[in-house]
Amino acid sequence: MKVYCATGNPGKLREFRLAGELLDIDVEPLPNLKNIPAPEETGATFEENASLKAAYYSRFADGPLFADDSGLEVDALHGEPGVYSARYAGENATDDQNNALLLERLKDQPNRTGRFVCVIALAEAGETRQLFRGTVEGEILHETRGPGGFGYDPLFYYPPFGCSFGEVEGERKFQVSHRGAALRLLLNYLSSK
Ligand code: IMP
Repeated sequence: MKVYCATGNPGKLREFRLAGELLDIDVEPLPNLKNIPAPEETGATFEENASLKAAYYSRFADGPLFADDSGLEVDALHGEPGVYSARYAGENATDDQNNALLLERLKDQPNRTGRFVCVIALAEAGETRQLFRGTVEGEILHETRGPGGFGYDPLFYYPPFGCSFGEVEGERKFQVSHRGAALRLLLNYLSSK
């Protein structure tokens, strides 16, 4: 089975393809994605953004396509950065800038709990068919740890592993991550059809 994936984020694409391989589903990047103008992510929730992206990009695909919206919710910041995770420190902010701002906002804050959330929307011919949500709970470190991953991974301490997501291999992270959980729900759904 083949399903297209609409993401321009190489970190995410790598994780999706890896999981697809493990479950024998061919996750293909949407051809020509970089020449298609991106839709504005105007949603107030991960569900809304995933759905608008999937419905939009599915018009350019000759089969089912999924898109995800994901981010970090920090309890002491009332769910921030949330849907603004990628652009927390500004429109074209780098991961380092976003991480620095997060540390600044959590300065002197003892409650460091939070979670990564991923919502995947499956769409076909311009319409969203299903939504799948995955989460993983963790704690925000006081400084970055580890060279791996992307985004907020080096600041995200995962208690069952005793280390940050920046310190683990992609495959190991995917077994427990929000994106892994949402993708498994999608793949199970597809294989039950
Ligand atoms: P999206 O591309 O709109 O879904 O934004 C996702 C943003 O949330 C990324 O740019 C990261 O800043 C953050 N994020 C989502 N998933 C992860 C993850 O697995 N690790 C680290 N950061 C993540």
